[in-house]
Amino acid sequence: MEECIFCKIVNKQLPAEIIYEDAEILAFRDIQPAAPIHILIIPKKHIKSLIEIEKEDEITIGKIYGIINSIAEEQGVKEKGYRVIVNCGRDGGQEVPHLHFHLLAGKTLGEKIV
Ligand code: AMP
Repeated sequence: MEECIFCKIVNKQLPAEIIYEDAEILAFRDIQPAAPIHILIIPKKHIKSLIEIEKEDEITIGKIYGIINSIAEEQGVKEKGYRVIVNCGRDGGQEVPHLHFHLLAGKTLGEKIV
């Protein structure tokens, strides 16, 4: 089976502009940025989507939010604000089947759905 594109980034088989890395979490710039700052934050473990999170993953997912805040601070957008999006499944518009959190910032973001 073809390995997941984000697993390939985790394993350094594919290049990415890495912003943050630890044993469980990786953050890198989105290849097609939808805002001046568009960073993807992922668990290194291959979790297909939000709906596939298991009990054992919950600590990592919690840490991801802390890392998002640290990255926002480092990127200088803490005061102005930012948006975090997780697309889940077909109706949610998820294209890459490896859980990822979009961090978008650097401009007034588009129309809100909610
Ligand atoms: P989603 O539609 O929520 O699944 O988002 C997938 C995101 O992954 C999109 O914003 C893509 O631009 C981004 N993406 C796809 N391939 C790569 C890659 N090789 N490096 C960085 N970002 C990527």
